[in-house]
Amino acid sequence: MENCRFTFADFTLHVIKGYICNIFLLEYPHGLLLLDSGSINDVKRIEKYCLKYLGCSPSKIKLTIVSHMHPDHSGGANTLREKYHIPITAYHTIDNWYSGIGGRLQHKLDCLMAQSVAHKQHRRLEKTLFNPLINPDYPLYDGDFLPFFPDWQVLHVPGHTLHDIALFNKKENIMYIADIIVNLKKDKFVLPLPVLFRDKMSASLKRLENIGASLLLPAHGSFIKTDEYPNLYSDMQKLLSKPPSNFERRIYLLSIYSPEIWKEKKQPHNFK
Ligand SMILES: [Zn+2]
Repeated sequence: MENCRFTFADFTLHVIKGYICNIFLLEYPHGLLLLDSGSINDVKRIEKYCLKYLGCSPSKIKLTIVSHMHPDHSGGANTLREKYHIPITAYHTIDNWYSGIGGRLQHKLDCLMAQSVAHKQHRRLEKTLFNPLINPDYPLYDGDFLPFFPDWQVLHVPGHTLHDIALFNKKENIMYIADIIVNLKKDKFVLPLPVLFRDKMSASLKRLENIGASLLLPAHGSFIKTDEYPNLYSDMQKLLSKPPSNFERRIYLLSIYSPEIWKEKKQPHNFK
C-alpha cells in the first residue's frame, strides 16, 4: 500500500509503504504504536514519515511490535531501539527461531529471499541483513494485552513460523494479521511463503475466522473487509490442502533450518 492514513475512534492509522511490506503506525493521544518494524532499511522510511507527516521524531513511538522474525517484519526493531530507545514486544519464544548454526543459516537465507522479493516488486537493492536476535523487552503470551496499548489483544497464530502473532482490537473489530493472509493481488488471497506447519496454520485460520474481525490488516497488500469475502477463510483452507507447487516446495526447502522446526517436527503427530 502507498502511504495513507485512516481515522478510527481512538487512533489514526498511518500506513507507511515499506521496502517489502506495509508498516502500520498508530497515532494515539498518548504516543505511537508501530505494528512491525519493517526491514532494517525501513528505519529511514519511518524516520522520514514521522518528520514529514507527524512533525515528530520516531522517539514518540512507545512500542514496536514484531509479529515474527522474518527480515521484512523484524529487521528495523533493534535499530529503532538503539537509536530512539523504543522497547520491543514479541512472542516469548521469538529468539529461538534464528538460534544456533541452523538458525543463523536460516537468517542469512531469509535475508537473501527478502532481497529477491524486493527485486520482484521492482525495488532497488537495499540492505536487509540485521541482528538475528530481538531480545524482547516485553515477551508476549497468547491472550495478553499489549503494554501501553491494552486495546490490542495478542493471538498466537503459528503455521508460517512457530511464533507468529496477530493483534485484535475488539472495540474497532479490526485485526493486524501480519503474514497469515497475503493480499498482493486484489481479490486473490494467498497463503504466506512458506507454510511450515499446515495443521497449525489451519487451526490459526479457524481461530481468526471464529473471532470474526470485520477488517483485516495484512502486512502484504490492501485491507480486507471480511463481509465482502464470505468465503475468505474456507478458500484459505482449500489452498492449504492443495499440494504445493514446485516454487512453494523450493521456498519450503530453503526455510527449514531453524532448530525450532526440527524440535517441533520430531514429534510425529506434528509432521505436517
Ligand atoms: Zn513472514
